[in-house]
Amino acid sequence: MIQIYGAGIAGTYLYHLLSSEGFEVAIYDKRSEPDCRCAWGIVYSEAKSFYSDIGINFDDYVILKPEYVVANGIWLKNRDIVMFDKKSLLADLWVEMRKAENPEIIVDATGSSRAFLPKIANDRVLPTVQTTEKHDVEPNLYIQMERTGYAWAFPLGDGWWHIGAGNVEKGEIERLLNELRAKYGFNPTDSTCRCTGKVRMLPPSRCRPFISGNVVGVGEAIGCVSGAGEGNAPALASAKILAECMINSELEKYEERILKELEWIENEQRFVDAMLNNNRLTALKLLPKIIAVESRRTVKHSLSEIRKLIGL
Ligand SMILES: Cc1cc2nc3c(=O)[nH]c(=O)nc-3n(C[C@H](O)[C@H](O)[C@H](O)COP(=O)(O)OP(=O)(O)OC[C@H]3O[C@@H](n4cnc5c(N)ncnc54)[C@H](O)[C@@H]3O)c2cc1C
Repeated sequence: MIQIYGAGIAGTYLYHLLSSEGFEVAIYDKRSEPDCRCAWGIVYSEAKSFYSDIGINFDDYVILKPEYVVANGIWLKNRDIVMFDKKSLLADLWVEMRKAENPEIIVDATGSSRAFLPKIANDRVLPTVQTTEKHDVEPNLYIQMERTGYAWAFPLGDGWWHIGAGNVEKGEIERLLNELRAKYGFNPTDSTCRCTGKVRMLPPSRCRPFISGNVVGVGEAIGCVSGAGEGNAPALASAKILAECMINSELEKYEERILKELEWIENEQRFVDAMLNNNRLTALKLLPKIIAVESRRTVKHSLSEIRKLIGL
């Protein structure tokens, strides 16, 4: 029996991958139902491919594809990012939540909580604030970024937006949000909800161990989050690797495969480190590798545009 704790992106996908292979699996989440929290952006082609493995037509959950990603006033053509209805998708993937007696394996899919694996030394978890609001603004992705964090406005269709910000320095979040509002015309308005969150900004190599006793981690719990704080597609990628290792009885290969197949995250988080430490030369050296990956996955951009964007 495998017990998964955490029915977010990684846990639900893993549950269905393993169940369809005949594994006995239980899943449990501390939430009573999926909520509307932020994080509705994902790389379309990756999501489409992963979810087809469990018989889900991802197109049914796509809300819209923004034409541009506008970062610090620089307009970049969106390649493959879509907004999807994460709440509905998770609701459709949720099954009866239960805790099994004496499971052989416990999967820690609890995201930034990492509730079952040992704590990480020098963990870096960014505090975030997010709201849902209505605005009459062209539905692009708007970002205002600086060395220590960024604010975003993501369109949800019908004039609705997720607006939020994260920063290593918690006290700077409201200022960053106000800068985003002023720059793109998101005037303060009544929010239908406001909540706080956290996102882990460390690469997998710094989130070891992935396996401790009978606990194995997946998704954000083991640092599968890009340097831009994008963790949905990486969570799916890690869950697929874990499922394959379990199906083939090759759990000993799990760590090696995560580090190899998600190596691009290492470079991006090294870049975040370099920016936080004001190590501009290292940041500059890492940029070509990052651009090579991200201009294929997310937005079309050149080295000069990115240098201008981050002031390098
Ligand atoms: C504000 C914000 C905006 C973001 N925007 C994006 C975005 O647009 N695109 C993107 O790709 N990524 C985004 N991310 C990151 C992304 O949300 C995560 O990296 C991704 O959801 C990780 O998936 P996961 O399954 O590992 O964890 P999660 O999706 O976080 O799921 C973890 C689950 O574990 C549950 N849980 C926690 N503790 C316990 C416990 N003790 N017992 C049982 N259950 C527990 C939680 O309730 C949750 O359901 C954002 C993050 C934040 C905070």
